[in-house]
Amino acid sequence: MEQDREKCGHCSAPLSGRADKRYCSDQCRAAAGNLRKHLDPAQQLMGRLNRVLGHNRQVLCQLSPQGKAILRREVLLMAGFDFRYFTHLHHTPTGNLYHFCYDYGYLLLPEERILIVNGHHWLDKAA
Ligand SMILES: [Zn+2]
Repeated sequence: MEQDREKCGHCSAPLSGRADKRYCSDQCRAAAGNLRKHLDPAQQLMGRLNRVLGHNRQVLCQLSPQGKAILRREVLLMAGFDFRYFTHLHHTPTGNLYHFCYDYGYLLLPEERILIVNGHHWLDKAA
C-alpha cells in the first residue's frame, strides 16, 4: 500500500517537519509497530480505515463547533481530512447528497465550499 507521506502512518494526523517522517509521534510509531506484529492484514486495514474515519469526524467536529459551518474545501484538506472515506450517504428530498462520518456530515457547495452539519436528527431522517 502506498504510504501517504504528508500524514501520520498510524493516526493520519498531518505531519510537519522532516520529509522522511512517517509518524507524528513516538507513541504512534510504537503503536504502529505493535499492530503490525499482532494483526493480520485485513485487521490492519480495518484499523487504518477506522482511524481515518475517526480523524475525519474529529476534523468536522473541530471546524464546526456550533454544529454547522461553511468553510473552504482546502481548510479541511489542510486539517488532514480524507474525502475518500465516509460512513454513509444521505439524500435529501431536495436532491442534495450529504456524506457522513458518523454523526457529522458535509455537503459540497459551489466554488469549493463545504457545508458541515452535525446531529442525530440528520441520521433519523435518513431512514
Ligand atoms: Zn500519529
